[in-house]
Amino acid sequence: MQPDEAVYIKNVPDYDYPRVKQALDGMIGAMPGGWQAIVPGGARVLIKPNFLKPAPAQAAVSPHPAVMRAVIEGCIAAGAGHIVIGDSPGYGSAGRVAEACGVLQVAREFGIEVVNFSQSVTIEAPPGFIHRRFEVAREAAEADVIINVPKFKTHAMMVLTLAVKNLYGVIVGRQKARWHFQSGRDYRHFARFLLELAWTLKPVVSILDAVVGMEGNGPSSGTPRRLGYLAASKNMVSLDAVAAHLAGFSPQQVYTLIEAGRMGFTVAAHELACIGDPLDGLRIRDLKPAGQMSVEGPAFLRPVSWLVNRFVTTRPRVDAALCRRCGICLEACPAQCMILADKGPVAINTKACIRCFCCQELCPEGAVHAHDAFGVHLLRRLGLEG
Ligand code: SF4
Ligand code: SF4
Repeated sequence: MQPDEAVYIKNVPDYDYPRVKQALDGMIGAMPGGWQAIVPGGARVLIKPNFLKPAPAQAAVSPHPAVMRAVIEGCIAAGAGHIVIGDSPGYGSAGRVAEACGVLQVAREFGIEVVNFSQSVTIEAPPGFIHRRFEVAREAAEADVIINVPKFKTHAMMVLTLAVKNLYGVIVGRQKARWHFQSGRDYRHFARFLLELAWTLKPVVSILDAVVGMEGNGPSSGTPRRLGYLAASKNMVSLDAVAAHLAGFSPQQVYTLIEAGRMGFTVAAHELACIGDPLDGLRIRDLKPAGQMSVEGPAFLRPVSWLVNRFVTTRPRVDAALCRRCGICLEACPAQCMILADKGPVAINTKACIRCFCCQELCPEGAVHAHDAFGVHLLRRLGLEG
């Protein structure tokens, strides 16, 4: 085991600030060098939270302001030179998201700017990666230190959004749709892109807010679920592997972990050092996913991909009663396969749909769900999903 694979974990039952602060400082303090090693004196720090859409803290869409406050105080105590909080949310600006979830008020207390990423610069990927370079937010490229603050949430496309997926937010605005379109229905290709992007950016630490996460129709319209912990690691994949394990997912069920395993990362939680509170009390077995079936279907059906495509997959479906025809999903759809006629809810051309679930992710009304086709239910009854 490499030293930086260790995952630090603390049982945190609620967002009571002294408890959150004590837990975070305890985890970072247990890492070699503590906060000072994470944030060298005078460093320019980018704190990258998971900002997706404006929603109150209790909706569990964004990291809780208490967690963000503890991160900010840690950086300041370590002697950070300049701190910004930045993201490029799918819907709304970073400032609006921060205001809605209460992070803006915290940032203002400390004189910290919340930046909406708008300008991209090119950064080179390390040798050996499939992707040679990335266009990322200038603030991410210029920071001395990136602190990654994901929120535990289900995700219709990637199954879970955790530390690796959170860094997709450094891709500015509509460029995100381009990457989705390039990957098409190849979820593993998209997962590889996410991993290579995250590993090019190399945040110095990732701090996962899993005190209250999200289950069901995540990552924006699901149900808050108390998970009861904070976790931190210098290794994003290790952190994601442990969080997935605690939620009852094997590494073979989470695309970023499948690809990370192929790239040589340790993805089996039992092979990773977990430091802090025992994992036993933090496991849950009944977390509801956003959708039940991958776009590829189970391995034994892949030779008959037409069958998988029609009957054994999970697709976006619009709830006519909830759709208020705002058009946000149409703008976000990378395949341009959503149609808004003169009347009625948005319709989807399922043949052209690449099942990226951007529409489900960004619909402010929660009107789009990941719908399991008939074959998914049948396979589940027969116990043949894997
Ligand atoms: S599905 Fe959602 S995002 Fe799309 S038009 Fe309807 S309300 Fe708006
Ligand atoms: S309809 Fe939804 S899932 Fe399909 S390509 Fe468009 S945004 Fe993606």
